[in-house]
Amino acid sequence: MRIDCHCDTVMYSRKELLWDNSARHCDFRRLRQVVDIQFMAVFPYLDKVTVKDRERIPLLTEELIGRLTEGAALYGDEVGIIRCGEDVDLLASGGKLGLLISIEGGESLDGDLSRLEHYFHLGVRAIGLTWNYENDLAWGANSDKNIKEEMLLGTHDGVKPFGAAVIERANELGMVVDLAHLSYHGFWRALGICRKPVLVSHGACYTLCPHVRNLRDEQLKALAEYDGVLGISFVPAFLNEKAERSVEDILRHIDYGVEKAGVDHIGIGSDFDGVETLPQGVNDCLFLSYLAEALDKRGYDRAAIDKIMGDNVYRVLLANLPKRNG
Ligand SMILES: [Zn+2]
Repeated sequence: MRIDCHCDTVMYSRKELLWDNSARHCDFRRLRQVVDIQFMAVFPYLDKVTVKDRERIPLLTEELIGRLTEGAALYGDEVGIIRCGEDVDLLASGGKLGLLISIEGGESLDGDLSRLEHYFHLGVRAIGLTWNYENDLAWGANSDKNIKEEMLLGTHDGVKPFGAAVIERANELGMVVDLAHLSYHGFWRALGICRKPVLVSHGACYTLCPHVRNLRDEQLKALAEYDGVLGISFVPAFLNEKAERSVEDILRHIDYGVEKAGVDHIGIGSDFDGVETLPQGVNDCLFLSYLAEALDKRGYDRAAIDKIMGDNVYRVLLANLPKRNG
């Protein structure tokens, strides 16, 4: 099973363009050649820097979900939305691309837990609690900015009561809980609350590159203990602090993640179409097939490559999603 846990493509493609849009890193046509399942992030921020106009966020969320479901319906012979475990096998055996709709940021709920169920009925199967900022669910990664290592403890609780309620409801409904973008503290609190294996859909390793979005060694180990998976991202700023980033950097983060968390707990979360520039040698989603070859050349055996390229995330999906529809 080949799976990429994160792309932002739906924000930038009208539904008619989702099949073929060479201006973007991904479209269904190319994705179908390299993955069985693509997580499609619904990122409803009106403005990435400040969240004004809050009441419009649920509307925008629905608009983006609608764009995905209508876009998938337009190309129904080749693409389908994944709503349950059974769908995964059905779509894969039919040679179709499976889309996993994922909300990035609990602002979409606008403080109302019943919206989570509503989004579930619309086909959403994963939810991230925050983007980089604090919201009414939890504290985001930027809450840790400028906080020295030794001061990380005790700065805030990590997850708020509403965030805890969202995690519990997501577990009941059959939605994957995504810890990407959470603060350091938020990560630990969420991990303690969540009863199902979690995903950190897109991030990398802090020891190799000290970025607030990356996981520290103890987080990588905890992720393994809780049977979760980190999707290694291709965001240049996560990979190294130098101006030049390459495929080698991606491979180094995969190696390191495998060393600390184990080969069962690392996956891929590209963030295609979520960044303006990609590392040297990465042009679009077709890179994913090259990445599998690069892992082979690096000495990973077939089983390890399959795990990293998707089987690990597949396990998280099956542990979370309803077995069948209805
Ligand atoms: Zn993101």
